[in-house]
Amino acid sequence: MIESIHCPNCGAIAERHHLSYLAQVKTQCEKCDYLLVICTRSGHVLESYAPGLPSPRANKPVAVSIPHLSQHPNYNSRNRDISVLSH
Ligand SMILES: [Zn+2]
Repeated sequence: MIESIHCPNCGAIAERHHLSYLAQVKTQCEKCDYLLVICTRSGHVLESYAPGLPSPRANKPVAVSIPHLSQHPNYNSRNRDISVLSH
Protein backbone atom coordinates (compact mmCIF):
# COMPACT_ATOMS: atom_id res chain seq x y z
CA MET A 1 0.00 0.00 0.00
CA ILE A 2 1.42 3.36 -1.08
CA GLU A 3 0.17 6.61 0.41
CA SER A 4 0.89 10.10 -0.92
CA ILE A 5 2.05 12.49 1.77
CA HIS A 6 3.87 15.79 1.97
CA CYS A 7 7.60 15.38 2.53
CA PRO A 8 8.49 16.60 6.06
CA ASN A 9 11.84 17.79 4.72
CA CYS A 10 11.01 19.76 1.56
CA GLY A 11 7.20 19.74 1.42
CA ALA A 12 6.98 18.06 -1.99
CA ILE A 13 4.71 15.08 -2.62
CA ALA A 14 6.44 12.04 -1.15
CA GLU A 15 5.50 8.38 -0.95
CA ARG A 16 4.78 6.39 2.18
CA HIS A 17 5.05 2.66 1.66
CA HIS A 18 3.30 0.44 4.17
CA LEU A 19 5.35 -2.73 4.19
CA SER A 20 3.16 -4.91 6.37
CA TYR A 21 5.12 -8.09 5.59
CA LEU A 22 8.22 -6.41 7.08
CA ALA A 23 6.32 -4.51 9.79
CA GLN A 24 7.86 -1.36 8.37
CA VAL A 25 6.66 1.99 7.09
CA LYS A 26 8.98 3.64 4.60
CA THR A 27 8.67 7.31 3.68
CA GLN A 28 10.69 8.53 0.73
CA CYS A 29 10.85 11.71 -1.30
CA GLU A 30 12.37 11.81 -4.78
CA LYS A 31 12.74 15.60 -4.69
CA CYS A 32 15.20 15.81 -1.81
CA ASP A 33 16.21 12.15 -1.19
CA TYR A 34 14.50 12.15 2.19
CA LEU A 35 14.21 8.64 3.63
CA LEU A 36 12.62 7.36 6.81
CA VAL A 37 12.03 3.72 7.69
CA ILE A 38 10.10 2.96 10.88
CA CYS A 39 9.38 -0.41 12.41
CA THR A 40 5.67 -0.51 13.15
CA ARG A 41 6.11 -3.14 15.88
CA SER A 42 8.61 -1.25 18.01
CA GLY A 43 8.11 2.27 16.64
CA HIS A 44 11.88 2.52 16.26
CA VAL A 45 13.48 4.40 13.38
CA LEU A 46 15.45 1.83 11.37
CA GLU A 47 16.81 4.17 8.76
CA SER A 48 16.59 7.90 8.29
CA TYR A 49 18.15 10.36 5.90
CA ALA A 50 17.16 13.99 5.61
CA PRO A 51 19.42 15.96 3.30
CA GLY A 52 19.99 19.58 4.18
CA LEU A 53 18.42 22.07 1.86
CA PRO A 54 20.84 24.93 1.08
CA SER A 55 17.97 27.18 0.04
CA PRO A 56 14.28 26.50 -0.58
CA ARG A 57 14.62 28.01 -4.06
CA ALA A 58 17.86 26.26 -5.00
CA ASN A 59 17.29 23.18 -7.09
CA LYS A 60 20.84 21.98 -7.61
CA PRO A 61 21.74 18.32 -8.05
CA VAL A 62 23.28 16.61 -5.00
CA ALA A 63 26.61 16.12 -6.83
CA VAL A 64 27.20 19.88 -6.84
CA SER A 65 26.79 20.32 -3.09
CA ILE A 66 29.23 17.52 -2.10
CA PRO A 67 32.48 19.20 -3.32
CA HIS A 68 31.25 22.46 -1.79
CA LEU A 69 30.87 20.85 1.65
CA SER A 70 34.19 18.97 1.45
CA GLN A 71 36.05 22.26 0.90
CA HIS A 72 34.93 23.69 4.24
CA PRO A 73 37.44 21.91 6.55
CA ASN A 74 40.38 23.03 4.39
CA TYR A 75 39.07 26.55 4.25
CA ASN A 76 38.61 26.71 8.04
CA SER A 77 42.08 25.32 8.86
CA ARG A 78 43.66 27.80 6.47
CA ASN A 79 41.86 30.63 8.24
CA ARG A 80 43.06 29.32 11.60
CA ASP A 81 46.69 29.19 10.38
CA ILE A 82 46.49 32.78 9.21
CA SER A 83 45.08 33.98 12.53
CA VAL A 84 47.86 32.17 14.46
CA LEU A 85 50.54 33.80 12.32
CA SER A 86 49.13 37.28 12.71
CA HIS A 87 49.21 37.19 16.53
ZN1 LIG B 1 11.49 16.00 0.10
